[in-house]
Amino acid sequence: MRIEEVSKVAVLGAGTMGHGIAEVAALAGYQVSLYDVEQKFLDSGLQKIRWSLSKLEEKGNLPHQRAEETFARVKPTLSLDQAVSDADVVIEAVPEDPELKKKIFSQIDKINRRALLASNTSTIPISEISSASNRKENFVGLHFFNPPVLMPLVEVVRGGKTDDSTISLARDLVRKFGKQAVICNKDVPGFIVNRILGPLMNEAAWMVARNKTTVEAVDSCAIFKAGLPMGVFELADYSG
Ligand code: NAD
Repeated sequence: MRIEEVSKVAVLGAGTMGHGIAEVAALAGYQVSLYDVEQKFLDSGLQKIRWSLSKLEEKGNLPHQRAEETFARVKPTLSLDQAVSDADVVIEAVPEDPELKKKIFSQIDKINRRALLASNTSTIPISEISSASNRKENFVGLHFFNPPVLMPLVEVVRGGKTDDSTISLARDLVRKFGKQAVICNKDVPGFIVNRILGPLMNEAAWMVARNKTTVEAVDSCAIFKAGLPMGVFELADYSG
């Protein structure tokens, strides 16, 4: 599939990441179906999209008319079949549970045989999740950061069997979303960003645990010396 043929994106899970990814896709002009298991999760996701669009509007980054059109492009559903059957791209953002993710992708095999398949997992190997699918060559990691609407980077992660055309399509999609794509060509733990971030956060935590310094000193150095946008502990608090 070429990027010009993509018109509908299905996002599975309307939580922290799912609602944000749905908003990003809708802002880029795509029809979006947002799937979750209970109406209250869909309602909460939609409410957060509404709120985020109103913030963009308030800051003068989005005209009112475009905000309304964007919101109208997101169609909530409690039916996986309805969400996925005519989707060109499926982005999964359900909880970080390998068995749950595998179960969903094995179900998708029966509903849709052509979409680009993507998982937003932070830590589970793409090859492991894609092992549940018959279309491993069309399977890729699309790792957004929180909040997806504001964070400019998306990692495109190659699983053991992902083919080159899938990587190209995923990269083009990320660009259409107005984001910067970085390709992680090996399914390594933490991909790129978290692999770097993990040791950084560990070292900071050990220094404080061993009474070598304070949380405030670490965060001051991170921001004012290293030039990072947030302190190490500030970021840990933010991500939870
Ligand atoms: P979350 O708990 O906020 O949202 C998960 C959503 O999935 C919930 O709305 C839940 O009801 C729904 N869900 C549960 N079972 C489902 C099913 N069978 N089908 C469809 N929906 C189902 O989680 P999150 O923080 O958005 O994380 C989602 C994924 O994104 C995880 O893989 C996580 O590792 C990854 N991720 C999270 C962050 C972050 O900062 N939160 C950043 C990058 C990647």
